[in-house]
Amino acid sequence: MNIEINSKSYKIEKAVATLLEALIYIKENTEPTLGFDYGCKSGVCGACSVRVNGKEKLACSYNPQDGDRVEPLKYYPQKRDLIVDKASQKELLKRVKASLLNYNKEVLNTQDEVKTQVQSDCILCSSCYSACPVIEVNPLFAGPFALTKTYKYTIDKREGAVKEHIDVIQTDGVWDCTLCGECTLACPQGIDPKTDIINLRNISAQNGYTDPNFGNMSFGGGFGFDTNGGF
Ligand code: SF4
Ligand code: SF4
Repeated sequence: MNIEINSKSYKIEKAVATLLEALIYIKENTEPTLGFDYGCKSGVCGACSVRVNGKEKLACSYNPQDGDRVEPLKYYPQKRDLIVDKASQKELLKRVKASLLNYNKEVLNTQDEVKTQVQSDCILCSSCYSACPVIEVNPLFAGPFALTKTYKYTIDKREGAVKEHIDVIQTDGVWDCTLCGECTLACPQGIDPKTDIINLRNISAQNGYTDPNFGNMSFGGGFGFDTNGGF
C-alpha cells in the first residue's frame, strides 16, 4: 500500500489496521524524522487528528487505503510534517469564557448529567475546527468546538451566568456560522456543534439579541424572493 504525506509517497510493506500504525511504520523504516502527534492510540486524547483526502480523521481510528493523501489539520501553524501548534485552542476557550463563571450550588441529577454528556465528550481534537469553512474567511470566528462548549455551560443548571456566556459569542461567534454542518460530520465523538449553535441562537434571542446579518439580507437574494414577481 502507498500513502501520500504532504505530497510525498511512502510504501507500507506490512498490513496495518490504522493510519497511526502506518505512520509509525514509515518512521521506523523509511523516514526517521517524520513528525506526527499521537497519545492514547485509542481515540480518547484527540492528539492524532489529521486530514485524509481532505477530511478530518483520528489517525488511530482510521483504516488507511491505498492512495490516501494525508495532511495536517487546517488553520493551525504547521510545526513539522503532520504536527500543528494547537496552542491557540486555550486562548480561544478563554476568549469565549468556556468554564463555569458563577457557580450555583446545585446538585446535578442523572438527567442533568445526560443533558450535557455529549458536549462533555469533546476531546479537543480540533477536527471540527479544521473542517469549518468560515475560519478560512474569518480567522477570528470562534468556531464549532468553542461554541459547543459554550452551549454546554448555558444548559448546565450550576451556571448562574448564562447571559455572560451569550454576550461574548455575539461577535465572531454564533451568527457567523453558515450552518453547513461540516463540523458535525467531522466530529469523531458524535458531537453536533451545528445543532448546538442553532440552540445558542435561540438562547441569544431569548436574551434580546438578533441576527446582525438580518438587516443586510436582500429580499432579492437571501430568502429566494423574486422582487420583480407577483408584487
Ligand atoms: S456548521 Fe457552522 S461551525 Fe460548523 S462547520 Fe459549518 S460554519 Fe463552521
Ligand atoms: S467537537 Fe468533536 S471534532 Fe470538535 S474538537 Fe470536540 S471532539 Fe473534536
